[in-house]
Amino acid sequence: MVEVICDNCGKKKNSNREWILGYNWESRSRTSGAVRRIIRFFDRWYSRHATEPGAFHLCSQECKEEYANKNGLRVIITQRDMGLHSY
Ligand SMILES: [Zn+2]
Repeated sequence: MVEVICDNCGKKKNSNREWILGYNWESRSRTSGAVRRIIRFFDRWYSRHATEPGAFHLCSQECKEEYANKNGLRVIITQRDMGLHSY
């Protein structure tokens, strides 16, 4: 069992309450070549994705907003489980 910690406040995941699962993704613009960091959020908790590289975990909606603000992220996309390797 892997210990899951909130990437915003450091709280341990110790109940079955659903957390927010997201992952970092980098996108390179075809026109300018600039790299843009994007975070995506899954529509629910998928434990099989929780330990994949780039994944992060947030215990609440408040932490989700704080995390996004702190990181100055430009694009937040919510998506269903489509697999991390389909891009
Ligand atoms: Zn938190």
